[in-house]
Amino acid sequence: MSTLTHQDWLNLQQTLSFEGRAWINGSYCDAQDQQTLPCINPANKQTLTEIADCSENDVNRAVSGARDAFNRGEWARISPSQRRVVLEKLADLMAQHAEELALLESLDMGKTAADALAFDIPEAIRCFRFYAGAIETINDEVLPTAENVLATVTREPLGVVAAVVPWNFPLMITSWKIAPALATGNSVIVKPAEQSSLSAIRLAALAAQAGLPDGVLQVVPGQGKVAGQTLGLHNDVDCLTFTGSTLTGKRFMTYSAQSNLKRVWLECGGKSPQIIFDDYDNLERAAATAAAAIFINQGEVCIAASRLYVQDSIYDRFLPLLLAEAKKYQPGNPLNPESLAGAIVDQLQFDRIIAGVEEAIAGGAKELTPSLRSECKEGWFLNPTILECSDNSNLIMQEELFGPVLGLCRFATEADVIALANDSNYGLGAGLWTNNLGRAHRVSRQLQAGMIWVNSYADGAITVPFGGRKQSGFGRDKSIHALEKYTDLKSTWIDLNE
Ligand code: NAD
Repeated sequence: MSTLTHQDWLNLQQTLSFEGRAWINGSYCDAQDQQTLPCINPANKQTLTEIADCSENDVNRAVSGARDAFNRGEWARISPSQRRVVLEKLADLMAQHAEELALLESLDMGKTAADALAFDIPEAIRCFRFYAGAIETINDEVLPTAENVLATVTREPLGVVAAVVPWNFPLMITSWKIAPALATGNSVIVKPAEQSSLSAIRLAALAAQAGLPDGVLQVVPGQGKVAGQTLGLHNDVDCLTFTGSTLTGKRFMTYSAQSNLKRVWLECGGKSPQIIFDDYDNLERAAATAAAAIFINQGEVCIAASRLYVQDSIYDRFLPLLLAEAKKYQPGNPLNPESLAGAIVDQLQFDRIIAGVEEAIAGGAKELTPSLRSECKEGWFLNPTILECSDNSNLIMQEELFGPVLGLCRFATEADVIALANDSNYGLGAGLWTNNLGRAHRVSRQLQAGMIWVNSYADGAITVPFGGRKQSGFGRDKSIHALEKYTDLKSTWIDLNE
């Protein structure tokens, strides 16, 4: 955890200067038509700075600069070991600026600075180090063919990769996209979320300082329906890697079909279930993890376990433990290290969560916690909330609210709960708690999700793929497998007869 005090963070904030301009071809620039968007601190609703609202022209300029850089080959055609040096230098610079980057994340989107410093920033740094090393371990292939030919399969970078990312873990998710794409030699254009552009904008300057050639990494802040859509529809973008809502993910599939059939990799929403079986004997531990799994980062986590199924015979014993754990996630000032949760990202998301809870209650769910709305009105704060529900079709068991709200439901048998857990459009994560080894394997096999946790939740490592199934998308971030998304296979036949 962070060793910085509240006062330390406030002191650091005094020294910060906010850069909100786009980064194109190696320097900061305003949007061509000078348009900006306000960058608001969710903890006090005050404007921190303005960020560039990039138009179609700005995005076109970024794409053309990225293409030129790719064609020049100063990055794409140097050896993996030369790229490794630059990416490791970037990781070193991020480590040197870790506190500044953590504070930018906190002020920009409301998460606690302590969490950003303990988790988001180290994860982003690890990601660059991992892919820097990984590219020197990838081999091409010579395949079995007839005696008189040689057939090789080589991997080539795709060219221009665009990354459109969300606001909940801004720098970490940006890194999951751009580190493997840069490592394999692509030029990359990042479109950060409107609510959280500051860390990506800062990263671009650090990358230049590390030695990344101009044009290889561009950052175009702006609106999804303008800058994001322009990238999605662009005929000179070869790949679009996206994390965000399922609705927007579907749009990117359409943009691809309407333009150049660019590859699209989607990481979308989730409504992940967690199951507590009555043979699991450490209910205190299960309750603590269940609460953390939904309330960390104010519930703004794609793998948040927002549905909890507890077996009938332990339900009454488990409930008070869960309520006591939930209480710990009362939101507070994100710069105060005592706060386990910060502010909701913006007014829209705040209103959406409240409306969702009201609709779930109107549909029969029962509120077990005192109040969703926090006493603190200075920022967009919401309290941890648990809704008990016996109907799996209720909104709280089906729709992603992306806030600190848990849907809780009883179940009777293993078969019943597998059916309930799989009754969802999503398939991102799933957790189960049991002391029975056979059950752990049996249920894991049947749960429709990209990631399963047994007797834990949300463990992760840069070496292990991250991603989902069904309408949670099909891309995989992290791990060696992510490198495949940003390269193309080329088969070359060489006739040996002459
Ligand atoms: P969002 O879909 O609204 O926005 C994501 C990005 O897409 C932003 O940069 C936004 O500007 C852009 N965008 C929005 N509308 C667009 C359009 N019409 N055309 C092109 N681009 C557009 O999502 P969000 O609210 O920023 O993030 C929350 C969502 O992200 C949740 O659903 C969450 O589950 C999901 N998420 C998924 C993962 C994962 O790995 N599966 C990780 C984090 C977040």
